[in-house]
Amino acid sequence: MLSTSQIRTAIGEQVVPCTDQSDLFFEPDTSDRFGEKPAAREMRERSARTLCLSCPARDLCLELALREKPAAGIWAGFSSEEITDYLREAA
Ligand code: SF4
Repeated sequence: MLSTSQIRTAIGEQVVPCTDQSDLFFEPDTSDRFGEKPAAREMRERSARTLCLSCPARDLCLELALREKPAAGIWAGFSSEEITDYLREAA
């Protein structure tokens, strides 16, 4: 079983589609009073999830997300909320 740091290293050794695309994988700054509109969020997240489907590190990324419980973003094709819900139901 890989340690969390070994997982991070293994992911870092792959060419992953999310590199330099944090604007797709994470919600933009919503500190203004309007925030990200639902339709824009859906389109952004759909694009991110599609990129994850072809990622060579997807299994490792999912394992990392399940361990780290991210507060935001798309990980291995799942939103942080979906990962949180899964972990809650599995507990
Ligand atoms: S599976 Fe993970 S590492 Fe791969 S593109 Fe998606 S978020 Fe990035």
